[in-house]
Amino acid sequence: MQATSERVGNGYRLANNSFEAIVSITGDHIGITHLSHRGTSERQKIDVTEKPLTLRVATEAQRIDIVSWSGHSGSGSAVPPEEDWGYQLKLHENPPGGNSVQRLNEIPLGGALYTDTYYPGYYWYRQMVALPKEWDGKPVVFVLGGCDQYDWRAYWVYLNGKRIGEASYDDTYLGPWHETPRYVLKPGEPGYAHLKFGQANLLAVQARGLDRRTPEMHRLDLERYSGQSLLVDQYVAGGEPTRDVTGFTLSDHSASVADGAASVELVMTHPSEALAITARYWLNPDEAVLHKRIVVHNMGNSTITLLEADVMSFTTGTAQPAGGGQGWPVRIGEDWFAGVCHPAGIARYGKDSVRLQVVPGASLDPAHTHDYVSKSAVVGVGNGRRAFADYLQVHGRRKSQFLNMFSLYGLCEIATSLYDKIELTEPLLLKNIDQLTALQGRGIKFDYYCIDTGWNDPRGELKTFHPANFPHGSDRSFKAIHDLKMKPLLWISPAQGPAAFRFDVVNPLLKPDDNVGANSFLCMAAPRWRDMLREGMLYQIKTNGVRGFKLDEVAFYCGRSNHGHLPNKYGVERTMDAFIDTLNQCQGECPDLLAMLYWRFMSPWWLLHADTIYQRGLLMEGSTPSPLPSRITRQSVTVSLDQGHDWNWDTMPLIGQDSLGVWLSNTRWASWMGAEGWREAWIMDFVRGNMMHQLWGDLGLLNPDDVTFMEGIAKWTAQNSDLLKHPRRILGSPWKPGPYGYACCEGDHGVIVINNAQFPGETVRIALDEHIGLKPGTAFDVRWIYKNGSVTEQATQRVAAGGELEIELGSFEACMADVRAAGADSKQISPGRPAAAPRSIPIRPIQTSYTALSWYNPANQKRLALVVNNRTVATRSPEVLQASPDRSDERDRDIVRETLTAEVVLEPPKTASKLLVTTRLDRDGIAWHCLAPFEIIRITALADGKSLPSKVTPNRWHEEAGGWSWVLHEFDVPPGVSHLDLQIDAVHPKTVSMTNEVWHAES
Ligand SMILES: [Zn+2]
Repeated sequence: MQATSERVGNGYRLANNSFEAIVSITGDHIGITHLSHRGTSERQKIDVTEKPLTLRVATEAQRIDIVSWSGHSGSGSAVPPEEDWGYQLKLHENPPGGNSVQRLNEIPLGGALYTDTYYPGYYWYRQMVALPKEWDGKPVVFVLGGCDQYDWRAYWVYLNGKRIGEASYDDTYLGPWHETPRYVLKPGEPGYAHLKFGQANLLAVQARGLDRRTPEMHRLDLERYSGQSLLVDQYVAGGEPTRDVTGFTLSDHSASVADGAASVELVMTHPSEALAITARYWLNPDEAVLHKRIVVHNMGNSTITLLEADVMSFTTGTAQPAGGGQGWPVRIGEDWFAGVCHPAGIARYGKDSVRLQVVPGASLDPAHTHDYVSKSAVVGVGNGRRAFADYLQVHGRRKSQFLNMFSLYGLCEIATSLYDKIELTEPLLLKNIDQLTALQGRGIKFDYYCIDTGWNDPRGELKTFHPANFPHGSDRSFKAIHDLKMKPLLWISPAQGPAAFRFDVVNPLLKPDDNVGANSFLCMAAPRWRDMLREGMLYQIKTNGVRGFKLDEVAFYCGRSNHGHLPNKYGVERTMDAFIDTLNQCQGECPDLLAMLYWRFMSPWWLLHADTIYQRGLLMEGSTPSPLPSRITRQSVTVSLDQGHDWNWDTMPLIGQDSLGVWLSNTRWASWMGAEGWREAWIMDFVRGNMMHQLWGDLGLLNPDDVTFMEGIAKWTAQNSDLLKHPRRILGSPWKPGPYGYACCEGDHGVIVINNAQFPGETVRIALDEHIGLKPGTAFDVRWIYKNGSVTEQATQRVAAGGELEIELGSFEACMADVRAAGADSKQISPGRPAAAPRSIPIRPIQTSYTALSWYNPANQKRLALVVNNRTVATRSPEVLQASPDRSDERDRDIVRETLTAEVVLEPPKTASKLLVTTRLDRDGIAWHCLAPFEIIRITALADGKSLPSKVTPNRWHEEAGGWSWVLHEFDVPPGVSHLDLQIDAVHPKTVSMTNEVWHAES
């Protein structure tokens, strides 16, 4: 039904069959005074009243934006500020130096990025600031800090060694939003005497306490929740830097209907300011969402710098808002959501109100660009927690269509500093294409082929392949891909540019000031780089038939003032728009372009412009293990990927979430997983909602059985992929050891996958009824597509109407069943029994020594280095301290050596068997991650005084996102042995504890 617009008592009503809104034009409230759902399902009612809009404009006051800081760690706990280690070091008095940090809300304590959800201690930011002579006599305003949950809880600010201010906030009752801390020094006040005009001043910021935890976060995984906020200010102004303008009054109004959408337009003018606002509200047909946009006009003769603007601000009555942030919507009560449809848009809330804001940083020149057109704000209602995700799925780029994707990354690898690079070359690519040709002969076809990281000339402009590795150019490679009817995809780093991962190469076509100022990352709005990226992508589309891009790592917070945007926070919207414009131009040239976004595209709104995003608030890569130990790395990795989807189940469309796929590879990025366990990962991967087969790496690792398996699965997905649109979570949860899975069922047909993510076996029962989407009162035939590690067993079971499917699961078994209404002729064969699972063996470790390792004792240096490096810097020389104390967490530097023994009693095995010993590391119940746990936890098993051969997982330094919080020692136990002695020798922070579990496995 088309939307309608009609005059009612005090304004206009916009309505369609599922929604109505009243926009008032008289009375106390101009704007929305009523929103309600009209559909058949019962939705929560809310009481909405729009509030007057505020614009924030820049004053004439001169500003000095701080581009970067020198960082330094302080104490790891919340001691008083004068007792903090950084204060004791007199950081507030000494000139800055060392570690460069871009933003005041970043805490770079260690390369593992693992302390940014909860950190009770201190961190210091210092910079020299030259105050102009002409500021003498004016108030000096320091605006330093954030306004959201990413901000520090307390600050102390020092100028030239003297404290000039402090700020703190407490979100216990009010939520995380607060005003940005600012400190004003006025002439005549005592602090003013510390300012040195016409020379450099030492500005030092001592910050304490980060707490970004939410009740939904799983405590064990707290170190892995990741995020960032670009909502941080860091500047000094000579005078009041901003002015808020409010008090606009209605001067005109109208309503119209066009293309089925109904709209109301309000023109607001200001009695004393040269600013006017045109606000447009609209309702599309068949959508329970009201949109609003404002246009800000400069009505005067001089330029106005519009820094911030409300697009929509309203009270919510008793419905409690939650969530929000930059790039994220708020949820209001049970069924409502609101946000700004742009990754730079801000949704913030108070106890009973929501404020949807933009930060344009736009210069409104009266002669030229005198208008600013805001991003659209939305407020809508839908299916409970999924209301927003459903809205975004309708408007997002990726539609519900199954994709098959292959990347040869993992066959090659250049993104490594610890291990030798494996270059992507023409022979390697062509050989890989031969393998894919053979797979096509078996009915296994990939739609997309990604020529991944390392393809391009690092000195070029993204048009040519690397001349050393593709001496004949790229023609043969592209031809081979097109001949197989695959669409080529290219990997590009918008932050690193053509020389990505080749840190010794300087691209001659880019200049040093093309980056964001604080580090080497390129700015998306820097004209040279913006043009090169866009032209390179367009060239690949037009010349080589490229049909997609993986865009990996990006920076939108830029301190430069020569890129056509304001520095720092006020440049984010424009910098994102520069990138969106590049995507739009590529999509204009190639409408079905596939865009996959990776690191630091951190807003679901990116799905309006791209097909998938990957960074969704839980730190992971394609082969990062979870905190739950497993028999082989892959099993823990699969759990981690399922956790990523689980965490975001309701926050954004499942189809837009990159599953990260399955790796066949013996490279670092693949955690050397090889092909072991890949089938179980494959089963889980395509059913968790993103409707994709995504395979990486070395097809040479597949054996004939693997190909038979892949053929079987490919056949099933080709015939049944429509089922995969609406997965439901069944059984347990990937956050705990045990069986969990997904069911994708509709009426009389469906698929079920289950992963028994634990050492023991378990039998589960699933009711085949409406709870998983099946028609109730129906008998079903359950055909095992994959069970007991076999795709050929194909057991079929009958489950009577109203009955339960009983499944006996082996240790870490993943299985898949096709479920359909019972037929007349099906043969029934029960699945075989899974292999025997390991048995738990109780142990009682006895501590034999526990000593603090003194930093002043040279004999301890190697072991201390192992722990600190393990937490911070991947290294080839682990026993040499790589990270100085200023850039490590104090809690990680207080280190002990602990030795324990434990007796293991076994029922004497008749044949050779395995003893599995897991060690988990945690601090206060939060998994503690490090890059090489095998270096700090050493375990031997002795039988009759003889040490048993062992294998350790992991056994190499892990330098990508993640690290490990556990290690598995696996010992070969000879037949007949009934007593073993375990000897554990560990070094770890005093605040980290170890937990061991022991399992006895037949094989
Ligand atoms: Zn820039």
